[in-house]
Amino acid sequence: NYALGPNVSGWDEQRRRWLAQNKGFPATVPGGKPRILLVTGSQPGPCDNPLGDHYLLKSTKNKIDYCRFHDIEIVHNLAHLDNELAGYWAKLPLLRRLMLSHPEVEWIWWMDSDALFTDMAFELPLSRYDNHNLIIHGYHDLLFEKHSWIALNTGSFLFRNCQWSLDLLAAWAPMGPKGFIREEAGKILTAYLKGRPAFEADDQSALIYLLLSQKEKWMDKVYIENSYYLHGFWAGLVDKYEEMMENHHPGLGDERWPFVTHFVGCKPCGSYGDYPVDRCLKSMERAFNFADNQVLHLYGFAHKGLESPKIKRIRSQTTKPINDKENLDVKAKMSTTS
Ligand code: UDP
Ligand code: MN
Repeated sequence: NYALGPNVSGWDEQRRRWLAQNKGFPATVPGGKPRILLVTGSQPGPCDNPLGDHYLLKSTKNKIDYCRFHDIEIVHNLAHLDNELAGYWAKLPLLRRLMLSHPEVEWIWWMDSDALFTDMAFELPLSRYDNHNLIIHGYHDLLFEKHSWIALNTGSFLFRNCQWSLDLLAAWAPMGPKGFIREEAGKILTAYLKGRPAFEADDQSALIYLLLSQKEKWMDKVYIENSYYLHGFWAGLVDKYEEMMENHHPGLGDERWPFVTHFVGCKPCGSYGDYPVDRCLKSMERAFNFADNQVLHLYGFAHKGLESPKIKRIRSQTTKPINDKENLDVKAKMSTTS
């Protein structure tokens, strides 16, 4: 049976001891919030389509911006830590490695390279999750009644750094090894999950299958979130951004101003996606600029339109920038429209 690594036990106690001995590396950030590490990644080589690399850069810039505003650390991984778990499975060994290497981190947040923050002001309601270890976007009824393969989305989710999470990763991984195992496991998943096309085992289907087949063991600590878009499917969102800007403001995170826009089914970098590459790239450009406006507004600029990389000035310059109230509260300012 495949294993992510040597069996680690007693991690909670090991981590507690480490934190007690390393007071300079607390599990909270200045201000008292839990320390969060956002992890993303992309394939080790260049994209087949060079435009894809440009959008990977934009996607990383978008994440750096969000993390800067919210005191979150960020990792961008390009390596396959485990050759067996290449591709979309690569996040599993990576998350495990980072949890063990960073006992000071309380939450590890995976986010796909094809997901963008589109609400720069929204903040995770972490206190809601005090009694949970895995936070993931999805729907209870789709999971437990429909057994749908899109009941949960593994493009953006958080793990608490604890033994439970290591155990869940270990239970999640066995369908991942590429080749025979992944192919055969794909057949089981397609037979079992509603709506799933025939293809090799993917991490999302495998997680859904695990939680369905071992509900009693895991679900107590899984928080299925849908009160805001921890993951939001792009196709229903990208054409409504102008309407949102007209009627709402950042900080809401839900359908009024989606927290995350995720380009599921788009493969602008290469290989075959479910949507035409042109439509994907144009939509990504819109999502990026929609989010980037929230950043540029802080500095007095905005994009000329959601499809334009060009920007314009939206405030006149002042001779006393430090006295300028506008500069003071970054987050408050971001959630008011200008
Ligand atoms: N990924 C990675 N290394 C790889 C291939 C993929 O880190 O070699 C990551 C990348 O962030 C990507 C994610 O795995 O966004 C999941 O793949 P994808 O977004 O294509 O799947 P989808 O969300 O479309 O199901
Ligand atoms: Mn994705």
